[in-house]
Parts: sequence; structure tokens; C-alpha cells
Amino acid sequence: MKQANEEVAKDEVKNEVTSLSLEQSCFNKDWILRLYQEEYIKHFICLICKQIANNPMEIECPQHASMDESLISGEHCLKLFLKDNNNSCPIQPHDNCQYSRNNVVRRQIGDLTVICIRQFEQELKTAHETEGEGETPGLIKCDFKGKLKDLNTHLTNECRLNLVNCWFESFGCNHTCFKHNLNNHLIENMKLHFDLVTRLLQSMKQEIQLKDKYIIEKDNQIKQMERNFQQELLKYRVDIETIKKDFNEKEKHILSNHDKLVKLLEEKNAKLTQNYEQLLQKSNQHKEEEKN
Ligand SMILES: [Zn+2]
Ligand SMILES: [Zn+2]
Ligand SMILES: [Zn+2]
Ligand SMILES: [Zn+2]
Repeated sequence: MKQANEEVAKDEVKNEVTSLSLEQSCFNKDWILRLYQEEYIKHFICLICKQIANNPMEIECPQHASMDESLISGEHCLKLFLKDNNNSCPIQPHDNCQYSRNNVVRRQIGDLTVICIRQFEQELKTAHETEGEGETPGLIKCDFKGKLKDLNTHLTNECRLNLVNCWFESFGCNHTCFKHNLNNHLIENMKLHFDLVTRLLQSMKQEIQLKDKYIIEKDNQIKQMERNFQQELLKYRVDIETIKKDFNEKEKHILSNHDKLVKLLEEKNAKLTQNYEQLLQKSNQHKEEEKN
């Protein structure tokens, strides 16, 4: 039972290693072992993940000088380990771990002959799915066999197992297939692709019509606002005229009242002056009469 669990755990590690980016993680040992004996690759093993070291670094602390094995680790594994373990050495815990690039091993690993990693993954997958049923008919194969350092170029440029998106992806076709199958898909689905393009054009047209409608509505609203404003302005002008007229009339009224008042006062003044003069005369007459 314990053994079965271990198998599963090992399987998970393997999958994780292969699915990580080739640029960073170490290489699946089982993949390399397809073309080599265990003995041949034992000096390329990453001491952290036990797979084939990618960008090998050599650990050179003086503490391990007596160890009789190559102390190689993949660059990514080592950096991750140091980061997670407070810079403590992966061989035995101590500070100030010393390491450097090992260019010889790097070149040797780069020169290893490998099969296509996608082909390897596909074989793992189908072996899992069709256990004991033999080869699945009609399955595409990549027969690449070349140097590990040339694999990335193969994967991006010429691998038959390279999945590509349909040219009509932006129109809504979610199909992905191997590069060499794309032509078939394009020919067989011309109607579907045509319909996708037509549908997109239709929806764009509708959107444009909606926008047009919106613009016309806004235009009408602006015109209505202008009309309202003009009317308001007219009303204000009439109001101002009325107020002016009213004011003029009131002014006139006040002025005429004022004139009348002045006249009345003048008349009263004249009468008072007259009365005073008469009184003065009378008083003079009295004085004359008394003298006589
Ligand atoms: Zn590693
Ligand atoms: Zn060390
Ligand atoms: Zn390939
Ligand atoms: Zn398509």
C-alpha cells in the first residue's frame, strides 16, 4: 500500500516537472532516460529535485570538499531552495552557501540527445488512458530526435504537436489543433467561420445604429434646450419692458405730485405774504391814528 502511494507521489512530481517552463525547471529524468542509461546521466542530477539539472550550478562550499559526488543543482531549484530556507545550503544546513555556474556540465547536458518533450508527454498520457490497449490509432506523432539545447527552437518552429489557435479566434472560434491540422479545420469549417464573421459584422452594424439613434436623440435634446432658452429670454425681455414702463409711470406720477405740492406751497406762501403785508399796513395805520 505504502509503495502504491509513493508511486502516485512520484508521478505527481514528474508531471509538475514536465509542465513547468523548459526555460526554468529541471528536466524530467525519465524523459532523458529514454535514450540514455542511468549510469551515463548520474553526474547531471539536480541534488534538490533529483531530475536532470537545467542551467546547472555547482555547490562549492569548503564544508563539502571531501564529498565524492558531483554537487550539481538546477539554477531555478537552487535559488528557490535558498529563498525558502533562509539561504541555508541544500547539502547540510549552514550559512554562506557557495556556488557557481558549471559551464562544462551545462554544455554536456545541452548536448544530450532527446526525443520531443511533447511526444514524451503524449505517450505518458495515452499510456495512462489506454493502459495495456496498445497504440491509439490516428494519433499524431512528433519524431524529433535532437540535442536538448535545440529543443526550444523545435518546439516553437517545427514541432508537429504544437497546438495553434484557429485564425478565426477573434471572431469566436475556440478551436485549437496541431499546426499541420489547421488547414483541414479551415477548409472544413468555412461556413462556420463565414457565419461567425457575418454575426460579428451584424452586431457591429446594430451597435452603430444604436449609437446613431443615441446621437440623434441627444441632438434633439440640445435643440429643445435652445428653444426653451430662447423662450425664457423673450419672457425676460417682456418682463423688463413691463417693469421699465411701470417705473416710468410711477416716476411721472411722483413728479406731477411734486409739482402740485410746490404750486400749493407757493400759493400758500403768497397768501401768507399778502396777509402779513395787510396786517403790517393796518398796524401802521393804527400807529398814525394814535399819534394824531
Ligand atoms: Zn532541480
Ligand atoms: Zn554547503
Ligand atoms: Zn515535437
Ligand atoms: Zn475555426
